[in-house]
Amino acid sequence: MANDPYSNALSFLSEIEKYLRPEYKKYLSRLTKPQNIHKGKIKVKMDDGKQKEFVAFRSQHSDALGPFKGGIRFHQNVTESEVKALSLWMSIKCSVAGIPLGGGKGGIIVDPKKLSPLELERLSRAYAKFIAPIIGEKKDVPAPDVNTTPQIMAWMLDEYEKIIGYKAPGTFTGKPLALGGSKGRTKATGYGGVLALKYLLDQLKKEKKAKWVEKPVSQMSIAVQGFGNVGYYFAQIASDAGFKIVAASDSRSGIYVKDGLDPKATLVCKKGKGTIDGCYCVDGQCSIHKGKKISNEELLELPVDILVPGALESVITEKNANKIKAKVIVEMANGPTTPEADEILTKKGVYIIPDVYANSGGVSVSYFEWAQNLSGYYWSEEMVDERLAQLMRSSFLHIWKRYISLSKEFKNGISLRLAAYLLAVERILEAEKLRRP
Ligand code: NAD
Repeated sequence: MANDPYSNALSFLSEIEKYLRPEYKKYLSRLTKPQNIHKGKIKVKMDDGKQKEFVAFRSQHSDALGPFKGGIRFHQNVTESEVKALSLWMSIKCSVAGIPLGGGKGGIIVDPKKLSPLELERLSRAYAKFIAPIIGEKKDVPAPDVNTTPQIMAWMLDEYEKIIGYKAPGTFTGKPLALGGSKGRTKATGYGGVLALKYLLDQLKKEKKAKWVEKPVSQMSIAVQGFGNVGYYFAQIASDAGFKIVAASDSRSGIYVKDGLDPKATLVCKKGKGTIDGCYCVDGQCSIHKGKKISNEELLELPVDILVPGALESVITEKNANKIKAKVIVEMANGPTTPEADEILTKKGVYIIPDVYANSGGVSVSYFEWAQNLSGYYWSEEMVDERLAQLMRSSFLHIWKRYISLSKEFKNGISLRLAAYLLAVERILEAEKLRRP
């Protein structure tokens, strides 16, 4: 596969073409280009008094289903091609989630770690000015992404509201609660992932698809790669639901505790030590004797029922796919499985809950934040959780139905990923067809 992110994204569109319902095929080419690309140089005053220029982008891929939606990335490796590809994935993700939003993405080529807090604020405000003419509550709604935080959203919103002259909190999501952020957002991605897993297991049980799903959840083992926002909340919520978390890792290494570890105690230990290494905790009791240190590679190959890649992209490849023993993979990170590995695992009969659905809890609660901002009526955390569960359940049922009908029609090589992508693309193309037949 080419190493250009946008070419890769396009090759995915051509791969699914043969499975598309005939009435949509003629509209597919509309998704091959973002509707708009806004790019330019923004000037920022540095602490030494000199002006510095930064290259900035906003790609608006498709607004067929609703206003463009997607994060803003601050990173030295940002490219136009990457921003365009990520905006296409956002169109897919919002559509899979069944929310009335399109796909967008923004970015600045910058290493934010080299900026002072004041320089970071000036850069964020300059970017808000740069995109002000093309964003808006009903036009394009940015959010945080790599290296951008609720504080950065607060600066951008403040700058934007100064320009337009009135309050419009629904223009950015991922804001701090005090500026109209949503309750339940921090844990939303992890919570949504656990819901996705439960819905799949229930369905497999109901349809008697496998013997192992009959066992109680307390005997189902889970290994989680990554112990940041996504990995930690997934582990904690799954553990609260009765699953046995036997392994977790961070960028340095991982731990394996055969009898199950306590995610909360592990997080406290990790915060204290700065690493997860040596945090072998069971029921809040941490002991060096209860578990063992493992590498991130070993974690992926453990004899577990469920594997949760929750850190980086492309960690499951053709090199390790055959060594993976898990029966279900919940893709909490974006793009953790390469296409080659996906093919091997699908042939092996592993159920992969694809990233566009598994981690859509985050964007779904961003949608709730936007809806609360537009209505001016704020929800309790219970209400957010309940509505997220409804949304995730409904998306699951649609994906599953499509998966079953595709499997009947094509027999081999059908995955939940293919079903989710087709569903998403067809929803966007249905809207396209209605708008411009
Ligand atoms: P984070 O920065 O909070 O945590 C990342 C974790 O990964 C950390 O524990 C870090 O130590 C670990 N890590 C880094 N390098 C690693 C390596 N080489 N091996 C193993 N672990 C490593 O990030 P996050 O918000 O938890 O995001 C994780 C993934 O989930 C990313 O792919 C992100 O795009 C995706 N995602 C996040 C959200 C969200 O709401 N936060 C939503 C959708 C998708």
